[in-house]
Amino acid sequence: MGRIYDGLPIAEGIAFAQIRLVRWGVPPVPHRMIPDEEVDVEVARLDEALISAQARLHDLQASTRARLGSMEARIFDPQLLMLEDADLVEGARRYIRENRLTAARAVEWRVLELQAMWIRTSNPMVLDRVNDLEDVLVRVLHSLMGLPEPGDIAGDGGPAIVVARTLTPSLAVQMDPGVVLGIATDLGTRTSHWAILARSLEIPSVGGLVDVSRRVETGEEAILDGRIGRIVVVPDERDRAVYRERRVQIQEWQEELSEIIREDAVTLDGQPVALRANLDIPAEASRAREHGAEGIGLFRTEFLVVGRDSLPEEEEQYDAYRQVVDAFPNRAVVIRTYDLGGDKFPMFLRTPVEANPFLGWRAIRVCLDNLDLFRPQLRAILRATAHGDVRIMIPLVNDVAEIVQVRELLADEEEAFRRDGIPFYGGYKLGCLIETPAAALEAVELARHCDFFSVGTNDLVQYTLAVDRSNARLADLYNPFHPAVVRQLNHVSRAARAAGIEVAVCGEMASNPIGAFLILGLDIGSLSVAWPSLPEMRRMIRSVRAVDARAAARKALAASTSRDVTEELVAGIGTGVDLAAFSGRWSLSVT
Ligand code: PEP
Ligand code: MG
Repeated sequence: MGRIYDGLPIAEGIAFAQIRLVRWGVPPVPHRMIPDEEVDVEVARLDEALISAQARLHDLQASTRARLGSMEARIFDPQLLMLEDADLVEGARRYIRENRLTAARAVEWRVLELQAMWIRTSNPMVLDRVNDLEDVLVRVLHSLMGLPEPGDIAGDGGPAIVVARTLTPSLAVQMDPGVVLGIATDLGTRTSHWAILARSLEIPSVGGLVDVSRRVETGEEAILDGRIGRIVVVPDERDRAVYRERRVQIQEWQEELSEIIREDAVTLDGQPVALRANLDIPAEASRAREHGAEGIGLFRTEFLVVGRDSLPEEEEQYDAYRQVVDAFPNRAVVIRTYDLGGDKFPMFLRTPVEANPFLGWRAIRVCLDNLDLFRPQLRAILRATAHGDVRIMIPLVNDVAEIVQVRELLADEEEAFRRDGIPFYGGYKLGCLIETPAAALEAVELARHCDFFSVGTNDLVQYTLAVDRSNARLADLYNPFHPAVVRQLNHVSRAARAAGIEVAVCGEMASNPIGAFLILGLDIGSLSVAWPSLPEMRRMIRSVRAVDARAAARKALAASTSRDVTEELVAGIGTGVDLAAFSGRWSLSVT
């Protein structure tokens, strides 16, 4: 068996290729003093290196603009500015002249000095700049020291699986699906800039692999499975056979797809289920439709801000929302307002570093404190309501007051729209994502103020069990079948039914056959899953009976351990669903 490393699934697909290790880092710079007569030469070398780094960045920017558009190309702007920054350039020149340092040593010292100064301000915007500055340093040092182009993602060895500690934005935009067949990184989550890009380019990817970049070598054969977040290094014949079969299966799914998506998502005993898709970027909308989505149950909007240094314009957002709405005429499109905070802070949000970011200034809390950010988003969504069944969903709600405030903001904007003659649909729905125990326990109250609920089990599980969803070490403890989770799901479902509002589940639990069976058994009739899971889930729904799901859910509710919950569900689902075919192909460890 090959060496197996498990991380977080980032982008769907399987890749077979050799590994190419991309070490993007500051090379060790030898310390050397120069004689007086070399000072001018060293200053000239520094200037040349700065110019050559600038030229390289301009090239990268131009090719990025051509391949990915001008929004992505802006990634290089801050670095280009830094290369002309007097603080940096003059400071480094001074070190050469006054301290007799080599150009490489001088620029390294100056950058370290600036970084230390910036870090003291503890502002994430500045922290992003610190990373940009490091990118610049790496580039200039490689040029000064005559090293090969750092982190040249394309390499010379042909198509490969790229393994790296992480991919800085300026590396990520060099990814070409023709040569980068897969990506595996130590760091990174689904919302890292490179991850968003990998998904839009459909490059199978895995993140959060901890230290994989120290455990593999360039040239080693590997198989990467972006669906379950795994990389198998130096696979044996059996591994290869398993993955070849898996590829054939995927191929068969593709071929069956047109047939599957014509089938109704309805249980054996005739209960229809609304099967929608989760989207991270607008480009996924067409894939979701091809895979049979009956609308979008969760459109995450962080792609608009991650890696950006300015607020997204209302117009740009409106275009992005329209793209998705137009792909789903007459279907629900649930747009979630920014879920920033946690590990997702765009550069323009000024905030102190927090000890517990996931318990900190996150999601709706950030939006309500930053109306310059929030209002344009609400306006852009409101404008999109004129074109389809657009719904607004608020993340991390804890309190009725938050929904009330959002309603007030929307009412303001609606009034302005009426005054200015901007079209929108006044009957749109506003709902909340139930992802904290506070929200689940307050569901009866919240239901009075919301038009729908969607349960975000990824966060609900993490907050209920106090288990960080992205901590690989705790993966076994991250159990969506814990009785405390099951009971909250039941409570939310009952509260929604009593209030006559729709309830859905949009966390990863909905793309797990046992999870979906439980959800249906708790009378939650709407599931939203990542688009690659749609065909399987449709088949699964068609293979079970709603009455069995209800009976199993009743037993699960009475169970006192996660294990008993799972056993009841497995017994209830019976033999109609081939769980073995699913197992290992879905994952509950999420983003
Ligand atoms: C969730 O928490 O379950 C959810 C759907 O939102 P996200 O995964 O984006 O936090
Ligand atoms: Mg969430």
